[in-house]
Amino acid sequence: MLVDSHCHLDFLADPARSVERALDAGLSAIVVPAVCPEHFGRVTALARAHPSVYYLLGLHPCYVDCLKDNALEILKSAAWTAQDDPKFLGIGEIGLDFFVPNLNRDRMQDLYIAQLKLARDLNRPVVLHVRSAVDQVSAGLRRIGIHRGIAHAFNGSLVQAGRLIDQGLCLGFGGASTFSRATRLQSLVKTLPLQGLVLETDSPDIAPAWLAKGEQNEPHQLARIARFVASSRGLEFAELACATSQNAARVLGPPGGLWSSSSALPSNTH
Ligand SMILES: [Zn+2]
Repeated sequence: MLVDSHCHLDFLADPARSVERALDAGLSAIVVPAVCPEHFGRVTALARAHPSVYYLLGLHPCYVDCLKDNALEILKSAAWTAQDDPKFLGIGEIGLDFFVPNLNRDRMQDLYIAQLKLARDLNRPVVLHVRSAVDQVSAGLRRIGIHRGIAHAFNGSLVQAGRLIDQGLCLGFGGASTFSRATRLQSLVKTLPLQGLVLETDSPDIAPAWLAKGEQNEPHQLARIARFVASSRGLEFAELACATSQNAARVLGPPGGLWSSSSALPSNTH
């Protein structure tokens, strides 16, 4: 039982083949956030085609400058329509990126807050992209009252991590933590409370250390990432896999226990 809590399946060369490999590697669910309205149809279709694939809808902060003026209206309408879809989980990928230079930060902030409000109105979790903006992202969550979701590819401090976990979120770790130079990430992975951890591949981005240059990162890599995290915490693989999958179900499962009725996901959604 393994959940890839962050995978851009819609950007992979052969998504169907990648899903097949992931299932062979022991994954039970793949969570696919959308990045812009042009991808809403693709992520929805992938979830429809594969029982183990789930999706979110959102406007990624790094896409802020290529979004059309009506992008937020398109998202709102698509998300309200998706409320009846058992494969729809929430609002993502949203957030703030103050690392990439020259992005329109005012619009990014406005879109972030508007999407948090949408998640609150829909009673859905969020999947967050956070780069050089952990405090600002946390402030938005507190202001709008969001208590469920994932800060993916987390790369902040121990104190910032604690604040997000106290807010009800889980932190996503994947390929970046497998590099020997990533000492801060590795100490987070080792010391954070287990209930605050979820695993991700972020495929095709952030390849783990063992992939050759140019080799495509795919969701089946999650099995090896899980082994890496389990051994760095001194846990059995099964224990780590079970805990992180239940965490993902807890923070992403829609209200009403829809996940618990699915055979593809762990039934423990408390
Ligand atoms: Zn992403």
